[in-house]
Amino acid sequence: MSDDRTHALTTRFAPSPTGYLHLGHVHAALIAFDAAQANDGRFIVRIEDIDRGRCRAEFEDAIFEDLAWLGLTWEEPIRRQSAHFDDYAGALETLKQQGLLYPCFCTRKDIREEIKQSSHAPHVGPEGLIYPGTCRTLSADDCEQNFNGGKSYALRLNMTEACRQAGPLTWQDQKNNQTIAATPALYGDVVLARKDTPTSYHLACTIDDHLQGITLVTRGIDLQPATHVHRLLQELLGFETPRYHHHDLATDEAGERLAKRHQAETIRALRDAGHRPEDVKKRARISVA
Ligand code: GLU
Repeated sequence: MSDDRTHALTTRFAPSPTGYLHLGHVHAALIAFDAAQANDGRFIVRIEDIDRGRCRAEFEDAIFEDLAWLGLTWEEPIRRQSAHFDDYAGALETLKQQGLLYPCFCTRKDIREEIKQSSHAPHVGPEGLIYPGTCRTLSADDCEQNFNGGKSYALRLNMTEACRQAGPLTWQDQKNNQTIAATPALYGDVVLARKDTPTSYHLACTIDDHLQGITLVTRGIDLQPATHVHRLLQELLGFETPRYHHHDLATDEAGERLAKRHQAETIRALRDAGHRPEDVKKRARISVA
């Protein structure tokens, strides 16, 4: 993979192949593509396919077909996360050496029960209920017993210790040109390797942005919460911090978000209905409330 860091700017579009691209995706892809073009930079497409149960080869093929139909070009070879589990394992080992990871054997049900029985009100973070820390204090013997019993486990970050080691963190966001203070502690002990796949979105994305030399991460404002955690991981793993642009989400005329769950028009449907690439791109560029 070429990694020419002399380019002023490297951006990426990082879709998960779990469905067909819709206008919202194209909006995001164009923000990254246009920024690279305007700065004689590099534009990368990365396939985020760690979720082997939900990702499908036909959707991946369709992503490239649709982007090419729209006239976008990107660097080859592309990076597919499912081919790089070794990179994620290496970073997990580094964090483990720093004493920042612990195995968590809890099921979702265990977590719900634990929260129900607790005398405190449940702690809710920007990404939902905060893990109550049940397995953080498991003894080595208990862990061993669980491993030997073949119990499946996730790896969680000890957030308090991680924040203590990292100190205060910020990032530069091009949206409104602001410096944002990262507050990863609000997310609790996030999962960095899931039970069903040996990494997580947070870990894989942070490592790939680093390895691919991304200097400007563009993504929807709905993913801004993730950046608090990514900033922390960058610090712990000794990575440089890219700049960010958390852009508004594409919406239709009524202000409704153009997301898959709202049955957004797919690019293939627009294509089949005879729309031209230029018109689709125009719609995707302006479809922001
Ligand atoms: N793969 C993520 C998605 O499709 C995007 C991740 C990112 O841009 O950081 O929502």
